[in-house]
Amino acid sequence: MLDVVIVGGGVIGSSIAYHLARSGARVRVYEQAAPAVAPSASWASAGGVRQQGRDPREWPLTLEAAHRWPDLDDELAAPTGFIQGGHLHLVETEADLGALEQRVQRERQAGMNISLLEPSAAYQVAPAMKGGVVGAAFTPEDGQADPRRTTAAFAAAAQHHGAEYSNQTRVDGLVSRDGRIRGISVGSELVSADTVVLATGVWTNALTAPLGCEVPIAVRAPQMLLTTPGPPRLAPTLTAVNRALSLKQLSSGEYFIGGGWPTDVVAHNNTLACRVRPDSVGGSWAVATEIVPSVADQRIDQHWGGLEAQSVDGVPFIGPAPGLEGAFVAVGFSGHGFQLSPAVGRAVADLVGGARVSELESVSTARIHALDPAIVDAFKHASPTTPVATLE
Ligand SMILES: Cc1cc2nc3c(=O)[nH]c(=O)nc-3n(C[C@H](O)[C@H](O)[C@H](O)COP(=O)(O)OP(=O)(O)OC[C@H]3O[C@@H](n4cnc5c(N)ncnc54)[C@H](O)[C@@H]3O)c2cc1C
Repeated sequence: MLDVVIVGGGVIGSSIAYHLARSGARVRVYEQAAPAVAPSASWASAGGVRQQGRDPREWPLTLEAAHRWPDLDDELAAPTGFIQGGHLHLVETEADLGALEQRVQRERQAGMNISLLEPSAAYQVAPAMKGGVVGAAFTPEDGQADPRRTTAAFAAAAQHHGAEYSNQTRVDGLVSRDGRIRGISVGSELVSADTVVLATGVWTNALTAPLGCEVPIAVRAPQMLLTTPGPPRLAPTLTAVNRALSLKQLSSGEYFIGGGWPTDVVAHNNTLACRVRPDSVGGSWAVATEIVPSVADQRIDQHWGGLEAQSVDGVPFIGPAPGLEGAFVAVGFSGHGFQLSPAVGRAVADLVGGARVSELESVSTARIHALDPAIVDAFKHASPTTPVATLE
């Protein structure tokens, strides 16, 4: 019998698989498609590796992850594409400086290497920015990585340590017996396991709701734009106060532009897909070319959307699935789970192994019961047509 079945082979499921297999557990990952393919979040992701600007409940995980990213290629013996160019969160009006200053202070007290830059210092870090920037928060240890290669690296390392992957295999249900989850079903086949971990992103409630457990997440489908390659002009990743923007330049020269602009989710042949909206493409392009004018020297080469599980309160749910003894969830990463992935994998592996994991207490599933059902209901039915200004 398997120790652990993991459902979902995205960056979160594959990181959990790696950490569990490394500790000697017999693990199998079930993935309905393949790790990090469309329209999953790990395929679509902007790959920003950013500590700053997060909800304090994510601080323990983000700090641990930031510490691990620089050595992850060596640890996994495979390339993640991590580049430590720093992250710059810029301010365009004096009125916004005070709030940013206070946030920087809080994050520094939490242990983050972050500083508030004067305009001249900000332009030294990112000379390509338009004029008029009045300050910026800078985290030099942040950067970017390639989400598809990172997911593949975790999956390969998991398999190196003995984890098995069953790709193109959709899990149809959780098997419950004598008040406990005993495994999963794939068609008529039952697979027994001591523990089942769901790293199933937007698809989670299809498995848990039939057993009475609904995780308060909703489907979001943020857009990404990729330009033609240009000369190297932008080292840090960029976001800006009150702007729906995340902007970076890849090592191959393309600008990669996000920021929460929505695509439309369409159901097709029993699967979900994202349809790009012209207004989102135009809006995202306008912001990026305004903040970094040299972006306009390029043209948009590709655009896409990806399915991300947005949690009702903006931070993930990680822990025992309420009412489903023997099952755990790690879902609801709300547009910023990629950076956390090394720490989430470690923490969930420890939790499944029976440890008390203090880093997970603030993002625990235990808070689900305390949420106001009216707020949860309204949240799940809201479908944003205007961009959610997120930091990616
Ligand atoms: C456009 C976009 C930009 C983003 N940018 C950033 C960023 O810059 N920085 C950052 O930190 N984060 C970012 N994120 C968020 C980050 O990418 C996600 O939080 C992260 O990839 C979530 O990974 P996951 O493994 O939980 O989900 P997913 O990658 O969606 O994986 C879930 C997997 O479960 C599988 N699955 C589901 N149900 C079943 C089933 N029944 N049987 C078998 N398999 C199943 C699916 O096929 C899928 O592969 C972004 C997300 C998006 C969409």
